[in-house]
Amino acid sequence: MEIVLQFSDTKPSSKRNPNLISTTRNSVTSLLRLPRELRDCIWEYVCGGQLIHVKNSYGLCCYICKATDSPRTMYLRTLEEPNNEYYEKHALNPEIKSHVSCYGRNKLNLEFQRTSRQIYHETTPIIYGMNIFSFSNAMIWFRFMITLKPQFRALIKCMQLDITISKFRDCGEWSETLTIPLVCSLTGLKTLHVFIWLKLGRPDEFRKIKEHMMKDWEGLPEYEANEQKILYTGLGRLQRLPLDDVTCVVCDDEFVYACDDLLLYSDNTLEQLEQEYKWTVADKRRLAERVRTVLLEPWDEVEYQKELEQKKKSGRKDLMITRF
Ligand SMILES: [Zn+2]
Repeated sequence: MEIVLQFSDTKPSSKRNPNLISTTRNSVTSLLRLPRELRDCIWEYVCGGQLIHVKNSYGLCCYICKATDSPRTMYLRTLEEPNNEYYEKHALNPEIKSHVSCYGRNKLNLEFQRTSRQIYHETTPIIYGMNIFSFSNAMIWFRFMITLKPQFRALIKCMQLDITISKFRDCGEWSETLTIPLVCSLTGLKTLHVFIWLKLGRPDEFRKIKEHMMKDWEGLPEYEANEQKILYTGLGRLQRLPLDDVTCVVCDDEFVYACDDLLLYSDNTLEQLEQEYKWTVADKRRLAERVRTVLLEPWDEVEYQKELEQKKKSGRKDLMITRF
């Protein structure tokens, strides 16, 4: 089944809403008489430059993000001086994570594409190539990709992935859906924004996950050790893409909720629990930087196959996880 980005009959909510295109016969004719360069500028203005949430709501739906801060802005803020050892100056809040206000009547409206074959062909590369497609769930990403025609997949240039780590054993959720054929079909993908959300049930799980993800792999060269660490976010296969630009933000804003029970039933204060279990700002930045670095490294398939053989011979099962 081909994905049809959903239509809506909502009134224009902003000057960039695609509804602004008039589709009466006369106006389309006038529009199509303009020079191609000018039309491309119009298409870009009307249907490019947005962050588009792909959601599952009785079928896949696309919503235009209403947030004022772009993923890059949020990433750049994480590079600023923190408030203290444990808190960023501009902490990401749950609204930024859930984007609740972006849904509802804000569906992406592509009805105008049906008015003319020429408009369809001219706007399709803009829609897929000049917006950021955002996925908060691995299964939605998978469904979107397998239902999208391969030629449309290849047009996507920019993506945002939200990786939620909610259980120790859940880290590989994305690796199950990021299959090699699908990843390799994203030939146009150049920019990737990764948000890693630590959403664990108990404070000790924060520490446990940190120890595991930041573990230095004894006897391994640093580049291989980094490779292993990124696998715990399930993103390892994306190393195959020739990405130009990667941002990564690691967020543990839900730490305080994980402490609820301990705060209620023990004498611990939040400060004590933070000191014992919470990731420091430096920890989060270290993981984010490792993810960025590894994803930006050029992929060498021949070298990879050699390493794979060596790893198989070495018999170290810990090196064979999820990636293959
Ligand atoms: Zn949004």
